[in-house]
Amino acid sequence: MKKIVILGAGPTGLGAAYQLHKLNYRNWQIYEKNDYIGGLSASVKDKQGFTWDMGGHIIFSNNDVFNQLVDELLGDDVLTFKRESWVWIKDYFIKYPFQNNFHMHPDKEMVLECVLGLLNNLNTKGSYQNFKEWIHCFFGDGIAKYFMIPYNNKVWAYPLNKLDYNWIAERVSIIDIKKTLKNAILQKDDSNWGPNHTFKYPLFGGIGGLFNKFLPYTDSHLQLNKNVVKIRTDKKEVLFQDGEKLSYDILISSIPLPELLDKVESKPGEIEKSIEEFRWSGGYMVGIGIHKPCPSKKNWMYFPQDDSPFYRVTYLSNYSPNMIPGGDHFSFLAEVSFSGYKKVSKDTIVENTIQGLINSDLLKEDDRPFIISKFVSEIPYSYPVPFLGRDRVLQDIQMFLSGRDIYSRGRFGGWKYEVGNMDHSVLQGVEVVNRIVCREEETIYRI
Ligand SMILES: Cc1cc2nc3c(=O)[nH]c(=O)nc-3n(C[C@H](O)[C@H](O)[C@H](O)COP(=O)(O)OP(=O)(O)OC[C@H]3O[C@@H](n4cnc5c(N)ncnc54)[C@H](O)[C@@H]3O)c2cc1C
Repeated sequence: MKKIVILGAGPTGLGAAYQLHKLNYRNWQIYEKNDYIGGLSASVKDKQGFTWDMGGHIIFSNNDVFNQLVDELLGDDVLTFKRESWVWIKDYFIKYPFQNNFHMHPDKEMVLECVLGLLNNLNTKGSYQNFKEWIHCFFGDGIAKYFMIPYNNKVWAYPLNKLDYNWIAERVSIIDIKKTLKNAILQKDDSNWGPNHTFKYPLFGGIGGLFNKFLPYTDSHLQLNKNVVKIRTDKKEVLFQDGEKLSYDILISSIPLPELLDKVESKPGEIEKSIEEFRWSGGYMVGIGIHKPCPSKKNWMYFPQDDSPFYRVTYLSNYSPNMIPGGDHFSFLAEVSFSGYKKVSKDTIVENTIQGLINSDLLKEDDRPFIISKFVSEIPYSYPVPFLGRDRVLQDIQMFLSGRDIYSRGRFGGWKYEVGNMDHSVLQGVEVVNRIVCREEETIYRI
């Protein structure tokens, strides 16, 4: 039995561990640099009794294997929701997605500009080379100007004309012009788009409550506080920061790909050079806990305007009563992206978030004394940018790695945003084990 070593105990590593356990495979270990499991999908409870996720995380999937796994792990400890998500624009909330509901906005000048942009596109056969051009081509100049461009600038923190468009599939609601015009004239909203229009959330422990349920499957195979610093492919050896050396036959890694490559010794010049091509955004996840009853039933909201630093805010306390110290409290979780292109100061982000919540009508100036918890978590990797030429670069790297029995998978291990959610990540872990042990083909992560 070959020795399989998993690096990282986030959803990908835990999915792989679960599958090895299911297959009764015995010769494996999983190593995690943090003192907790779950990676980006972990949760923390603060001293005031608020639980925070690392960004707004909800459970949704159109994959039966993942949905059955969630049922098995959470049992009855789960809550189910119909999405209540909104877009804040020009002092007014309209339903998400903007492109399907902009006509419900009272600013009719803006509505007209969006409609004219769509009509203009009916008569032109557009072409596009990057995400920015794709936006103008599919949505017209009005929707691009008011929502698509400013919102995506905030999320990706990277010039949109340097992003590819080949990741879009289930991630962006593509417009049906005739249906939109019909809805505009009949004044009907259309908010059911997308795979997450219903979703689940754990009753206990925040989103991390789901991943803590993997612990019985990792058992004595798991070691925490083990930071990988080097990988010697010639000797098939992993080196940890604490000095320990470990031999392996096969590695499954969920470490961000450029970092993994950095740790791999003796690699060809072109692989070394390709590390420089990677771009990503980091995120500040800002939690604001308030000693007042929650004034809203909304789930989350999108913010394209520049009078707030965040692109999205979640009423986190609406997901489970166990997210707050008591019934007369509620919590906001705001997400702010940063990068080399878009610098954001950690020193001012909490105050800027509170001011943004006030500017967006979610808090009032005289709510300030009721704020009893301020939480901020800095995430170095939050969005893997689909940079131009990404797939060619990934193909070369994954060929190089798999030739050395290293399989790099997951949100940042695989670097494919379109398969970078929790369901995809868990399944990538499951499927790569099936590939290694049972010689089955992978279906989620394809190169
Ligand atoms: C803001 C935000 C919102 C999101 N919302 C949703 C959502 O609503 N629904 C959804 O399905 N998904 C969502 N996601 C995606 C979800 O977080 C990821 O799919 C998932 O966490 C990826 O799992 P992973 O194991 O691939 O990576 P990670 O979660 O990043 O885990 C990787 C693990 O590797 C460990 N590691 C890294 N370097 C080393 C090292 N040198 N040595 C040892 N260990 C190491 C890390 O500590 C970490 O535990 C969201 C993500 C973000 C950022």
